[in-house]
Amino acid sequence: VHGIRLEDVRFGYDPGAPVLDGLDLELEAGRVTALVGPSGAGKSTVLQLLLRLYDVDAGRVLVDGTDLRCTTRRSLTRVVGYLPQDPWLLDASLADNIAYGAPAPSPSAVRDAARVAHVEEFLDELPDGLDTVLGQDAARLSGGQRRRVALARAVVGGAPVLLLDEPTASLDDESARVVVDAIRSVARGRTVVVVTHDERVAAVADRVVRLERRRPLDPTDHPDTPEGG
Ligand code: ADP
Ligand code: ADP
Repeated sequence: VHGIRLEDVRFGYDPGAPVLDGLDLELEAGRVTALVGPSGAGKSTVLQLLLRLYDVDAGRVLVDGTDLRCTTRRSLTRVVGYLPQDPWLLDASLADNIAYGAPAPSPSAVRDAARVAHVEEFLDELPDGLDTVLGQDAARLSGGQRRRVALARAVVGGAPVLLLDEPTASLDDESARVVVDAIRSVARGRTVVVVTHDERVAAVADRVVRLERRRPLDPTDHPDTPEGG
């Protein structure tokens, strides 16, 4: 399991307007940390940095003691699983959608069969009944099922770090409950960072970290949404 450290991190999308400024954060290995705080505080930005979609302007991000700048994004995909706020699914079966996140053994001739076998084995260990809908088309899923498929895709490759961006946004109560249960089950043995406004998600966390806005709100920012939004 990998721990994560952000050391004196400064980052902004525009020069001179840092979103994160002097951020020190220790994310303990094997624990769930919830990132909360007002819209525009930089919660999603922390996830983007951990995915190495951007590099910090100053300071360091260490995953398992290694500076992210010394890793490639390609090698990071084996370490970091990501559930985006609005997960895309392929217009294909669920099995294929989940297999997309599975490691690809070579040669490619055996790849598909091996991936599907891996997915089936993986789902057997998940107590959430996704296996019963495995043959269905992604297009026919409910919002909660889409999230669980995307969550399965994020962890099927065995990544020890899992990043979740508003995993219950726009779900009804029942779907949110099922997704929270799925998070709880995949969180075991992983280092998880979850951005959320949802109390029910924060309740799963071992620790809650609150970020604050370091720059004025952009006109494009959404106003703060109430719990669960
Ligand atoms: P949060 O997740 O806490 O709501 P974000 O990390 O999404 O906050 O955004 C922090 C700030 O960075 C906001 O002012 C937002 O407008 C700005 N921002 C986010 N993503 C981008 C981007 N890709 N380009 C420019 N500015 C961005
Ligand atoms: P505390 O250490 O006060 O209990 P947390 O454990 O919730 O707080 O950690 C939040 C830390 O992140 C605090 O040290 C706070 O100063 C810092 N912080 C919050 N928002 C930002 C930001 N946008 N940029 C840099 N640092 C921030």
